[in-house]
Amino acid sequence: MRGAILHAPGDVRVEDRDRPTIVEPTDAIIRLSAACVCGSDLWPYRGIETYDGPIPMGHEYVGIVEEVGDQVSAIKPGDFVVGSFFASDNTCEICRAGYQSSCIHRQGVGGAQAQYLRVPLADGTLVATPNVPSDDLIPGFLAASDVLGTGWFAAAAAEAGPGKTVAVVGDGAVGLLGVLAAKQLGAERIIAMSRHESRQNLAVEFGATDIVAERGDEGVARIKEMTNGLGAHSVIEAVGTQESMMQAIRATRPGGHVGYVGVAHDVQLPGEELFFSHVHLHGGPAPVRQYLPELIDLIWNRKINPGKVFDLELPLEQAAEGYKAMDERRAVKALLRP
Ligand SMILES: [Zn+2]
Repeated sequence: MRGAILHAPGDVRVEDRDRPTIVEPTDAIIRLSAACVCGSDLWPYRGIETYDGPIPMGHEYVGIVEEVGDQVSAIKPGDFVVGSFFASDNTCEICRAGYQSSCIHRQGVGGAQAQYLRVPLADGTLVATPNVPSDDLIPGFLAASDVLGTGWFAAAAAEAGPGKTVAVVGDGAVGLLGVLAAKQLGAERIIAMSRHESRQNLAVEFGATDIVAERGDEGVARIKEMTNGLGAHSVIEAVGTQESMMQAIRATRPGGHVGYVGVAHDVQLPGEELFFSHVHLHGGPAPVRQYLPELIDLIWNRKINPGKVFDLELPLEQAAEGYKAMDERRAVKALLRP
């Protein structure tokens, strides 16, 4: 089969790889209907995150179940399924509390920019749609696999809801879908922080009521001006840098909440400032599995259209161009058709 491999920074190639097979009786093999490039794939692509040797890329996936192990009972061949980047048993105490991405049996799922994928702990990890969806719904389900689930967790962790003003730091796919999630959760005012017109427009379409183009200290000052000098109740942090994290914390009012989901890279939090801020911090790798049944229902019934974050679609063979376009910020998110 064909699959994308990262050989070195800036060097992604689609090559022949062994087709995965059932290893454990709890595995499933799925034939991917679509895959995509994640903002977090850009960290190793840019050489900011180091890794050993060539790595198969991709951790967002939807597809048709091809084969299941002997102990899999909740899904069957022919089902269209959505999973996420950590496999989980969905039965342990941590999973039952809604933190499947910290499951005591969690396993990373990788190599999804390919034709086939092995998913461990299939019963706990995969959720089937009511039926095989029409083609136009596939991008939405693919978004649910990571960026929508992550944006949703960020909005929930930031306690977005009725009466709340929510600010969103980061205008990538996760930030934009954080806007959509905040809207669905009933937030009163949603301020998207973005300086790119096409992303601002999508943020407004997803439910943003205001746009702030400034960033850093100036961005914080704008949020305070808009909130009687107090700061937002809820701030979504969807970048993962020192600047974005401090922007999020400083834009939050005392007693408010930051939901941080940008994968942290060299972020150092100042203890004394944090102590006096009275800001709640909650985040991490999103337990996407917790939200999948609800998100699948919303997408299946066409209540939300998160697939709009894909503004570039390419055949899998052209994965390298998808990385390049996202790296150069010519595209928000690239969808790959195997
Ligand atoms: Zn678990």
